[in-house]
Parts: sequence; C-alpha cells; structure tokens
Amino acid sequence: MARYFCHDHPDVLGLETRVVDARSGAVVLERTPFYPGGGGQLADRGRLRWMGGEVTIVGLEFAGGQLWHLLAEPVEPTGVVQAAVDPRFRTLMTQLHTDTHILNALVYQHFRGALVTGAQMNEDGTARMDFDLTDADNDRLRALEPAVNDVVRQDLPVRYGYVPMDEAAAQPGLLRSRSVAPPPGPDGTIRVVEIVGLDRQACGGTHLASTGGSRPVRILKIDNKGRHNRRVRIGLEP
Ligand SMILES: [Zn+2]
Repeated sequence: MARYFCHDHPDVLGLETRVVDARSGAVVLERTPFYPGGGGQLADRGRLRWMGGEVTIVGLEFAGGQLWHLLAEPVEPTGVVQAAVDPRFRTLMTQLHTDTHILNALVYQHFRGALVTGAQMNEDGTARMDFDLTDADNDRLRALEPAVNDVVRQDLPVRYGYVPMDEAAAQPGLLRSRSVAPPPGPDGTIRVVEIVGLDRQACGGTHLASTGGSRPVRILKIDNKGRHNRRVRIGLEP
C-alpha cells in the first residue's frame, strides 16, 4: 500500500511544508501529516495556515495521482504553509481503529477464522464491523465485550512491519478482510499491524501505540445482515 508520512511519524500531527499544486478550495502539499482515509477509517481533518490566512481542511481526495486537501473556503494558498491535524479527531479514529482490531482478533479466535466483510468508524465515537459468520449465536458475540476491555487493560504494545505480498497471502489470517484489504505498495510489500501477543494483520490505518490508550469499549448492538453476516456496533465510553 502507499506509505504515508503518518505511518512513519504517527505522533507528528503538524508540520511546515509547501504548496505544490493549488486550485480554488484545494491544495496539494509537499509533505502532509494527514491520513487520507481508508480501511473504514475517516480521513483526518484539521487546519492550514499561511502568511495570508488560515482555513479548515475538511477532507482529502486522491485525483490525478495527487492527494488534495479540501478546504472549507474557496481560497488558493501558495508558498510555505503549516498543516495541522485535529488531534481530538485523530485520537478518536485511532482508538476506534485499534478497538476494531481487538474485536476482530477475538472474533477470529472464537469463531474459527471468521473474516471481516466491512468496517466503518464514525465521528460520534462508534464503529461497526461486519463479519462473515454463518449461524453465529449473537449472545456469544456480545459476550466478547469483557475480553475486549481486558485487552485494553493489558496495555499491549502495537508494532508495524512490512511483509512481501506473496508471503502475507501465504500466512493464514494475515489478510483478514474480504472488503478492505489494502493493496501492496510499489515495492510489493504490505504493512502489517501487530498487537503484540494478540494479533497480526495487514492494515494501512492509524493505531494507538498500545491498547491501554483506548477508553473502555461497549458492544452496543448486533444485527443480522443476511444468514452469513453479523454487524457488530461498538462505542467508546464517554
Ligand atoms: Zn488497522
């Protein structure tokens, strides 16, 4: 998958950079700390400051092989700028994303390698995951909540590595998703996220440095989406 600045520098939420392309209400930056979205995680939002002003970055969009930062106003900044990710929003996404890995790992272990068919994180502090679970007992799924919070309490470290795609495909469980699997990068490798002692899987999103950074998690609701799919909604405690 593409290697983003935020993959190598997850703690750098602001930096000085330069506009390399611009149109009214959008800019391409030489470097960006913003996560562009993907894998069920929403794109970062934040602010752009320059000599002439300041504007909110409301979204990101790939077009023409470039990553465009979409601005809240029809301005066209040039030159040196400061790009800053909204830290509250990033932290929320990062918590939810890490918690979906924990849930995913436990479902995979308890339900014979059940794969993910969809995932979406929301800005209201909830997320949903869809699993391919034929005839699963919803009460058994709901009963995973204490185990999810036990992993949070254990504060397990989260690490990253890059694995050649053919090696990744040969390791059962590393490609966990049927719908949001990240494509390999130009060098043919895929990014693997490890929650040490619990889980390894391919993913291109942002995650906590260790699981203890998450607020406690509630399993809010489980819906049957056809005979094969279960939709599990989780939420962070306020
Ligand atoms: Zn992830």
